[in-house]
Amino acid sequence: MPDTVLPDDWDARAKRHSFFGFTDLPSIAERGTVVLTRGEGPYVIDTEGRRYLDANSGLWNMIAGFDHPELIATAQAQYARFPGYHAFFGRMADTTVELSETLAEVAPFEDAKVFYTNSGSEANDTMVKMLWFLHAAEGRPQARKILTRGNAYHGVTVVSASMTGKPYNSVFGLPLPGFIHLTCPHFWREGRDGESEAAFTARLAAELEEVIAREGADTIAGFFAEPVQGAGGVIPPSEGYFDAILPVLRAHGIPVIADEVITGFGRTGELWGCESYGFVPDAIISSKALTAGFFPMGAVILGPELSDRMSRAVDAIEEFPHGFTASGHPVGCAIALKAIELVRGGLLDDVRRLTPRFEAGLAKLAAHPHIGEWRGRGLMGALEAVKDKATKTPWDSHLSVSERIANTCTDHGLICRPLGQSIVLCPPFIMTDAQMDEMFDKLGGALDEVF
Ligand code: PLP
Repeated sequence: MPDTVLPDDWDARAKRHSFFGFTDLPSIAERGTVVLTRGEGPYVIDTEGRRYLDANSGLWNMIAGFDHPELIATAQAQYARFPGYHAFFGRMADTTVELSETLAEVAPFEDAKVFYTNSGSEANDTMVKMLWFLHAAEGRPQARKILTRGNAYHGVTVVSASMTGKPYNSVFGLPLPGFIHLTCPHFWREGRDGESEAAFTARLAAELEEVIAREGADTIAGFFAEPVQGAGGVIPPSEGYFDAILPVLRAHGIPVIADEVITGFGRTGELWGCESYGFVPDAIISSKALTAGFFPMGAVILGPELSDRMSRAVDAIEEFPHGFTASGHPVGCAIALKAIELVRGGLLDDVRRLTPRFEAGLAKLAAHPHIGEWRGRGLMGALEAVKDKATKTPWDSHLSVSERIANTCTDHGLICRPLGQSIVLCPPFIMTDAQMDEMFDKLGGALDEVF
């Protein structure tokens, strides 16, 4: 790195003082950093004036695009009226009260209670602390183990990274003991030779029974699942999965937490991902689309049973000793109220309208000789790259085929996400038909160029 960097050398400036997370460093060493200055609908524009169609909605969150006038005006108005406050010590902004009421109204259960965080990771950590606290208060201090699934993504804090079922967390010595990862419900990859999808689902339910029997039901604090795994590579569960595993969890009194950080607020074609799969969890973890990505905010939304039990447990010690400085920030809450209004007022319909076109685009590209599978639900989808389509043989991971496809897309003005061997798409809900066609044309061109 030179001693001085030129003011218009944004790549050098970005690299000099910024530490990159979740970034393939050889790629940016070779290609440079894309530094962005503004957005227009689903497009973002870099310092060189290049436009990119963002097929990833930022990071699954910018469901209304990057310049939605109503979200901007709402934020400006709230900043002007009351720019910030916490939600503690018996004080809370009026806007925070209103958002909790609205979340209770839209939650898939009655009488919800909401606790605010700044992110999805913190919301998962908060939920785990709530469960640990609750079980201890109810006389089960040993109920501390957390069940999640392989390939799950629940965040990066110490607890949420332990919940995450990805091997890369081993560099941190994680997961912590007591975080147990069940088989990922991805039939195409995890199904055995000759096994039907129904038999696969039954095997996963049996595995859950075995794990509970082995560990002891009274040592388990809760089960967390994304209705559709997102950062695992967009993996909808196998047919009948939740119908098969929920009775097992219920029979053992294990709380079921839906991590709806990606699936919440319309992504799967219903307001909540759990609604798409016909189940009602005991609590919901929310973030991302909650504020349409216009403010960092997360929330734990407790269903009636957990919120009653939590209230009783907290009453006994008079205070729940947990919270973040910006919990329930009124600007975030105002934006969330507007985002929910937009989702209910048309964006959810847009998801439903766009889904057939999205699925048709994925299915068409899946005919490519090096695409093994397309999968998705609503407006989240993925194409899995394989070396051999017939045998599903994956590319050697060091070849980073998906990284090459994504980089080629970037060269052609399309941002999409390489995750493992798959290319993930989760477009903003405001995409037009023409923009969706542009997305698939560019991705198809990149596939032809790479293979
Ligand atoms: N849970 C899920 C399902 C996620 O997809 C993510 C982030 O992508 C998180 C939790 C963590 O959220 P955050 O990055 O806001 O901490």
